[in-house]
Formats: sequence, structure tokens, C-alpha cells
Amino acid sequence: MKQAVRLVFVAVILIFSCSKTDQNPFFTEWKTPFQTPPFQKIKDQHYMPAFEKGMKLQKQEIQTIINNPETATFENTIEAMEKSGELLTTVSHVFYNMNSANTNDSLQSVAKKIAPLLSKHQDDILLNDSLFQRVQLVYEQKDNLDLTPEQNKLLDEYYKDFVRGGANLDEAKKAELREINKELSVLTVQFGENVLKEDNAFELVIEKEEDLAGLPENVIQGAAEAAKGKGYEGKWVFTLHKPSMIPFLQYSEKRDLREKIFTAYINRGNNNNELDNKKILSRIAALRVKKANLLGYKTHADFVLEKNMAKTPGAVYELLNKLWEPALKMAKKEAYELQTMIFEEGNNFQLKPWDWWYYAEKVKKAKYDLDEEMLRPYFKLENVINGAFMVANKLYGIRFEERKDIPTYHEDVKVFEVKEADVTHIGILYTDYFPRESKRGGAWMSDFRKQSNIGGNKVTPVLYNVGNFSKPTADQPSLLSFEEVNTLFHEFGHGLHALLSNCTYPKLSGSDVAWDFVELPSQIMENWASDPEVLKMYAKHYEAGEPIPDELIEKIKAASKFNQGFATVEYLAASFLDMDWHTLTEPTELEPIEFENQSMKKIGLISEIVVRYRSPYFRHIFSGSYSAGYYVYIWAEVLDADAFRAFKETSLFDQKYAQSFRENILAKGGTEDPMTLYKRFRGREPEIDPLLIKRGLK
Ligand SMILES: [Zn+2]
Repeated sequence: MKQAVRLVFVAVILIFSCSKTDQNPFFTEWKTPFQTPPFQKIKDQHYMPAFEKGMKLQKQEIQTIINNPETATFENTIEAMEKSGELLTTVSHVFYNMNSANTNDSLQSVAKKIAPLLSKHQDDILLNDSLFQRVQLVYEQKDNLDLTPEQNKLLDEYYKDFVRGGANLDEAKKAELREINKELSVLTVQFGENVLKEDNAFELVIEKEEDLAGLPENVIQGAAEAAKGKGYEGKWVFTLHKPSMIPFLQYSEKRDLREKIFTAYINRGNNNNELDNKKILSRIAALRVKKANLLGYKTHADFVLEKNMAKTPGAVYELLNKLWEPALKMAKKEAYELQTMIFEEGNNFQLKPWDWWYYAEKVKKAKYDLDEEMLRPYFKLENVINGAFMVANKLYGIRFEERKDIPTYHEDVKVFEVKEADVTHIGILYTDYFPRESKRGGAWMSDFRKQSNIGGNKVTPVLYNVGNFSKPTADQPSLLSFEEVNTLFHEFGHGLHALLSNCTYPKLSGSDVAWDFVELPSQIMENWASDPEVLKMYAKHYEAGEPIPDELIEKIKAASKFNQGFATVEYLAASFLDMDWHTLTEPTELEPIEFENQSMKKIGLISEIVVRYRSPYFRHIFSGSYSAGYYVYIWAEVLDADAFRAFKETSLFDQKYAQSFRENILAKGGTEDPMTLYKRFRGREPEIDPLLIKRGLK
């Protein structure tokens, strides 16, 4: 996942000074290495004044652009806007990243307070007539301006931002749009906050040792430590955080307890308490329709998708439908296998969703003699990180050096300086991999500072990778599951997109690309993570140090298509649900559970599988940036499977392809049309077959 800090005007980081009496670190020059955020000095109370001043300064800058007596030009209008709002950009990046990875009540209250103010600030810019007239003037002469392709794209993007932001509406409709934006800004923050609180609210406290039946020793130990941390000394605690819940679902022999934790998980935001998200999400969906209609679009999806490679809801549904039928067929076959195992064990109950992980694990063991716990010892976190660094090194020649002198916001965070083969500085990467209550679930990449190079002013990127991976215990280091390994490589791939960016303007740099192109650099890395040749290089036993044996690699390979029906169906169902919510044509507030049931019924989802995200905790679409966009993972998988095949057919670290991928994809950000970039790398449009084969659907 990629997290976007949603500001229209993203600009380079500031360095400016102010009076000595002002202790707010956002108002002083950062003397840290590479001007990284001085986390040790940033306190919760610094954000609000920094936001307020940041907005004020940008307002003045915008006014200066408007007041310029000279005719509007690319430089004095578009580039000037791109340079505006430095302080606001900086504080936004630091704040939103902290609110996701290390939040507390006080940051959450700032988030709620600032959301409508930022929404208003953005509307004040996009709905400003005099400013839009200047932008329009430049846009109309674009063919005579002798702009570079990147400048052309930047001009297009700004023009589109204004039009899509309502610049062409009459005053009454502009006022209506402002109200909608304001309400949406508050509701989406509230939605995410409720999910986080629901994540933390549930505890499965186990008091009797017999209730631990089936669980591996390291899982038990982790649960004992979690219990101790929560004041239940001598007991065991499981939570809804994935590293705690998934092993429980995989191994616990206690069917009633599996049901209990799973039911709690799928009812987050749906408990009719003060954290319930049902009303909020139906209101969000309705407001989005209203906004789309106001701007002349039939649905919210039409509004979103015009900026993506897919362009229309029809194109998205077409891809989803193409995959749904073979995936569902395979999932039904898998369900049958699991049910057979249940009967063979002498039970006579019907397979339920909370049984799936448990029996899938058993069938996998029976069929491939492979279980998750056999792999973990080879995936010590540090070895996996080294593996990711090694792949990047072999592909692009870049290297990673740990820096202990750069401030962090939490003791779990590590910092690396990234350098070219010739030791030129590229950027800074923070890693933050363990779950805690102050961090939301999932994994993501985001930036503290984007790469740019306006007028020779070279700004290097500062970014971070966050995960919620298995923690070390008292006598074991952090040992990752195979899925966690893939996630780490995935986020690292987003990181490379940001690091290897070589653009002029921050708005187009790094991973600021069409939303269905953004997962290509991330997902392609997962192919290296699981390739036998690469596994041999980094997957080393955490105690003995020997590389993963061939026999185990063979088993991984043989089992690679196992449970893919489930994984694909669970994912596609969520993509359909997202599209269904966002192709509504009427701004009516619907009953979410009823709507969701209908949506799942329409595609024929089987009762043994629950959609990967139910509506009340579907954060990607109701509080993240993936509305009408959850499909992008599979869209990009068509691209990454096709792109990786180029390497697979030559060599995994083929320098010609690596160079081309770096130059044509990673370095280019959003400066050109994604399909143009892809074709430049691959020599043709992507084909869907490699994806179908990879998932065992063909
Ligand atoms: Zn991603």
C-alpha cells in the first residue's frame, strides 16, 4: 500500500528561519543530517501552529501570483504554485505519517481539527477565479510555449486539478462543493480513527493452558508477552493485529475461540457502539456521488478513474469479471478439499470462514509437507531486509548504510542512507516494522520529503516503510511469515520508486503516478522475494546460518499456487464491493450491511469466504486513497507479472532490463503517460497471461 499525503500543492521541503524566541522546530532550519525531521524536538503541540502558519504563508504566495502585473506564464504561475506552500507540505508530511504510525489522542484530535481547515484551504485555492484565469491562460497557449514533456504534464495536471476541483462551477455550486469537501474531510478521518480504536478494543484473554492447543511455541510465547504487557501476567492474549490473529486462526484447535476472534475481526466498525462506521460510510458514499454529479460525472468511480490507466468503471469491471470466474471455481475446489479434511478427521460440521486458515494449513501440510513454521526460521527480519537491499544492489548498483545519527520517532525505527555505486547520496530510508497500539494496521510506504530538482535546486528524497510484522520474543529474533516477507519487499519496491525518482517537479516525482500504475514498482519486487535463486541468497537459518535447503524451496514452489483461489476471491470480492459503492448514481444513504450482502450475492461469493474488507473497516476506500481503486493491485499485477517475465526469460538481474526499468519506470514518476512508459520498457503493451499462469488460473 502506498499512503498519499493528500495535498494538491506539494512542494519541496522548506528551510527558513524565524525569530530566536520561537521554539517550534517547523519554524527553524533543520540542522539534522540531510535535513531530516528533528523528531526529538517535534512535540504534539507544534503541529497546529505549523499548519496554521503554513496555510497563511501559502495564501500570501498565491496572492502574489495573482497580483503579478505581468501576463501569466508557465514560470510565474504554474511553477510558482509548485514552489508555494513549503512549510505546509513539510508539516503535512510529518504529521500524517506520525498520525498513521505513531499516533495518540492529541494527534488524533489535531487530525480532526485540521481536516476541515485544510479542505477549506485547498478549496480557497482551487475555487479562486483570478488564479484559475491565469492557469487557463497558460493552458490555452500550451502548444506555443516550448515546454518540456514534464512541464507539459505539470500544466495539464494543474489545469485538471482546478477543473476537477470545481473551478468551472457557478458560485452556488461552488459553495455546495465546499460543504461536501468539508464534511468528507471530517468523516474520512473519523472512519479511520474508529477502525484503529476497534483494532485495539478486542482482546482474547486465554486463562487455561488447554485453550492453547495446537499453537506453536513461539506463538504461545508472543501471546504470553502480550499478556504481560497488558497486565495479565500468567495468561495469554491474542489481538486483532495480524501477527497475533493469523497464527491463531492457522493453528488453534479450539474452534469456538477461532470463531470468537474471527467474528470480532469482521465486525470491527459494526458493533452499534460509538465506534460504529455504518452511518459514516454510507454518508461518505452518498456525498461522493453528490460531488461527482456536481462536477458533471455520473459516478464517483467515473470521477476517479478518468485519471487512471483504466479510465472507466467498465474497464475495471471487465478485468475483475475476467478473473472472477476461474478464481471462484478454484476457491470452490479448495473449499471441497478443506471440507473433505474435516470429514476425514471424523468431524461432521460444515466448513466456516474461521476454519479456512486452520484447514488450509493442514491440507498444505498433507499435500506438500510444508507449514508456515518450517519457513519462519529462514526469514529473520534482518536477513530479509538484507535480501531486499541485495536485490536492489544487484539490479541498480545502489547500496544501503545504516545511520545511527539520524533522529527517529520510535525506538523500533532504523534509518539507512542510500547511495549510488559511485557513493553519490540518493536519499534516506526509515524502516518501522513492528505493531503497536499507536500504529494502524497494514503496511505502507510514504515520504517525509519528495525528490525534486527545480532550477537546479536538487532535493533528495526522505521516505519510510512501515509494517506490522512478527515481533521478536525473549528468546527469538523477529521471524517473518512468507507473506510478511513479500509485504516487506512490496513496500521496499514503493520505496525504490521514491528513491530512484529523477524528476524536476515534486508533484510528478516518485510514486505520484496514476493510482493503477503505483503498484507496479512494489509488486514486481515480490517476484524477486520468492524466486528460488534469490531465496538461496538471503533466506538463511537464524541460528545455524545455512541457506534454505533446496528441498524446502521445492516445496515452496510446489505450494505456490496453493490457496490462490481463496486469496484471489477474497481480494476480488473487496474490489467488486469498492466498485459497487462507487458506481452509485444517486446520493442516497444506504444501509451498508444490506448493500454489501447484495453486492456479494451478485458475484456469488461462497459463504465459506468473507470479503477481505467488509465495508465498516474498509479503510483503503473510506479513509485512504483507494476509493474506486482497490482494483489497482490486480491491474498492476498484470503489469508486474508481464514485466518480471522479461527478467525471468533472460536473467534475474539482467542489466539491460534493470537499467531500462530504472530509467523508464522508476526515474520517471508521473511525468508521462504510464502506458507510454511501460511500452518503452517492455517494447509492447502488457499481456494478461503471465498473471493467470502465476495465480494458477490458467
Ligand atoms: Zn502497495
